[in-house]
Amino acid sequence: MALICGHDAPAYGLPLCEHIRTAATDPLDHYVHYTGRGVERQRICALCRNEAATAVVAAVCETCFDATEGSSLGVLGRPQTLDASRPVRGMVETTQLPAEAGPVLDIAPTEHGFVLLCDDGRILRWDTDSGTCTEAARSTVRVPADTKPWCGREQALRLHASRDGAFAAVVIDYGRTGEVIDLSTGAVTIPLENDGYYSSTVPFSLAFTEHAGRTVVLYRTEWRIIEAADAATGAALTRIPMADPHSDWSGYFHGALHPSPAGTRIASDAWWWHPVGQTFVWTLDRWLTDGESAWTEDTGRWQLPACDYYWNRPVVWLDEDRLVLGGLGDDEEELVPGARVFLLGRGQGESVLKEVAAFGGPDGHFFAADGLLFSSSQAGLEIWDPAGGARLGTLADFRPTHHDRTRGELVELSAIGLRRWSTTHAAR
Ligand SMILES: [Zn+2]
Ligand SMILES: [Zn+2]
Repeated sequence: MALICGHDAPAYGLPLCEHIRTAATDPLDHYVHYTGRGVERQRICALCRNEAATAVVAAVCETCFDATEGSSLGVLGRPQTLDASRPVRGMVETTQLPAEAGPVLDIAPTEHGFVLLCDDGRILRWDTDSGTCTEAARSTVRVPADTKPWCGREQALRLHASRDGAFAAVVIDYGRTGEVIDLSTGAVTIPLENDGYYSSTVPFSLAFTEHAGRTVVLYRTEWRIIEAADAATGAALTRIPMADPHSDWSGYFHGALHPSPAGTRIASDAWWWHPVGQTFVWTLDRWLTDGESAWTEDTGRWQLPACDYYWNRPVVWLDEDRLVLGGLGDDEEELVPGARVFLLGRGQGESVLKEVAAFGGPDGHFFAADGLLFSSSQAGLEIWDPAGGARLGTLADFRPTHHDRTRGELVELSAIGLRRWSTTHAAR
């Protein structure tokens, strides 16, 4: 059956109002209009703006859609937020930071308490159960005095730690340098410096994982290269190839790295010209086992949908197979708060990507535990059902910054100390 444009072809893009569809000469500029029915959206013109609910919209074919491509006027309406809120159980408990720490810049939860980065460079190991706090190392990484923020992104020190707390890394997000430190000796095992090529556009790519009985650190050395090294010795293990003969995967500017909970896969919140944010994911085990040569067509890897001008977005794994990206829309100018859930599967030797849910509402930092999605924003902590998209509850005065998986707690680093809440309270 033919579309309203008269062509017998698949519907393409968003449905269009009749004025955009039938513009005789120049394309009309458009709003993206969320109808309030789920995440349904359409393109309507300025004439339709005041009566958006009754705009006459219909889908057209790809050729006709592309011919209507005007500029964006922004977003009207919002996606539906399903609210199934119930009172949230459990108290937010405050633990004062150790007095000897002084101002704390960042924290990293590990299996053996917290690692703290103090503003004088000291790295402390702090066992919140026993209250013991010991100095493990001193970092010399400093944000250069003359840096200018990129799009409001200030360079800032960031602390990472390995799961067992044996290693830490201090890096400059949106900057160039950092170091990996063995906390048993205080020695720097890997000095980090990336090539500085557009490094101000992304947090310093770094993540710890484990492989074959050792701690491995992944980090950005050049804009398009992630290297993996033994955290204890600095010995290089593998890297993303400079040129990928099998696809165009070597043209990404790597950003924040997000390992899956069990460390089988990793997502890079990357971008490419011109500029388009695009998260991509690859399988860690084979890459770390076989090295650079594992980077062939059947290496498990997935390209998530692109979004013009937008990266540094909320990203979290629900489990080893499901990845959640924050933000609905495919252009930063038309982005609204929400979550998209993707299933990263394999079939007949190929990677298969399936979007299994999309819903409005979640904003800010994302966390996941016990099959639930958590968002931390100005609205506070909100709990979401990632399958149906309903909001299950809100803790308005709690804005967690970290996830302590060992103790099952979301943690907010605040001026008065650590504020902690157990995610088991969210389970039904
Ligand atoms: Zn119109
Ligand atoms: Zn057509």
